[in-house]
Amino acid sequence: MENKTKLLSIVVSVYNEEAALEEFARTAVPVFEDLAWDYELIFVNDGSADRSPEILRRFAGENPKIKVINFSRNFGHEAAMIAGIDMADGDGILCMDADLQHPPEAAREIIRRFDDGVEVITMVRTENRSAGLIKNVTSTAFYRLINHISDVKLMENASDFFAVTQKPAEILRKNYREKVRFLRGYVQNIGFRREVLTYEAKPRVAGHSKYSIRRLFRFSINTILCFSDLPLRLGTYSGLFVGFLGLILMVYTIWSHVVNGTPNGYATIVVALCFMFAMLFFVVGIIGEYIAILFSELKDRPIYIVHDTMNMDEKEDS
Ligand code: UDP
Ligand code: MG
Repeated sequence: MENKTKLLSIVVSVYNEEAALEEFARTAVPVFEDLAWDYELIFVNDGSADRSPEILRRFAGENPKIKVINFSRNFGHEAAMIAGIDMADGDGILCMDADLQHPPEAAREIIRRFDDGVEVITMVRTENRSAGLIKNVTSTAFYRLINHISDVKLMENASDFFAVTQKPAEILRKNYREKVRFLRGYVQNIGFRREVLTYEAKPRVAGHSKYSIRRLFRFSINTILCFSDLPLRLGTYSGLFVGFLGLILMVYTIWSHVVNGTPNGYATIVVALCFMFAMLFFVVGIIGEYIAILFSELKDRPIYIVHDTMNMDEKEDS
């Protein structure tokens, strides 16, 4: 049976999932055992404050194919996926959630596609039973906006459920190390032989969603900043707008001076103010462009910090 030549790395991000982990291992591991490829199951514990680390330690003790990366604190879902991709040895890497919303059975089809030469697989959900109406409406609005104002195209129902082969994974490891980022956006825009598969998102097996409305909002803002430079140009645009207003007022001032014969002091001040503000906004806009670029590059903080690992030969972290 053990003549499987290829390895699939499954990266599972875990943040306070004590309620879901047992069920995940119980249903997912037998599926992975039966795959046409060998597997390694990498749990990335993203600074869980519950019993998740203990449960994972036990898993790793029982099964050498189960590996664990413990972060020093919570770094977020994307950081967890990035760490998993960084340390995965597989010919293919599959990222999925720990709450069984992403069906493990999909791994079979993914491996079939990999064998056919597909390099990037984006999983798109057909139905999201667990998400409420508000979440669905805001999500649609968000994708409309981002596709409108940026030059990349993001699919609305694409999830953090995706799979890549070594080559695109290497691109994600070497490049795309930005601090303000949108991982699944990169996956959709790095090219390679890409295919889209559908899956049905199930409700969470246990526990509750870790993404609060506030977090989703922050996430949306970051994505817009990450894929569009429109916000940076707002200063420039407002400068142009106010400048245009100033021009109209100037024409009006001259015209009223000619018609009435008396200089209008109030209007003159308004015209001058408009012009000055136009210039000011313009300069602020340009400086803003530079600062935004410099700031994000300069800080260069790590995307994640590894505390320790299990069943894994230590590798450099980010
Ligand atoms: N997660 C994580 N770090 C976080 C938040 C979430 O690793 O800071 C993990 C979480 O354990 C789960 C996955 O990311 O495996 C997706 O999170 P969740 O199910 O809460 O999001 P939803 O499915 O509701 O969008
Ligand atoms: Mg979930």
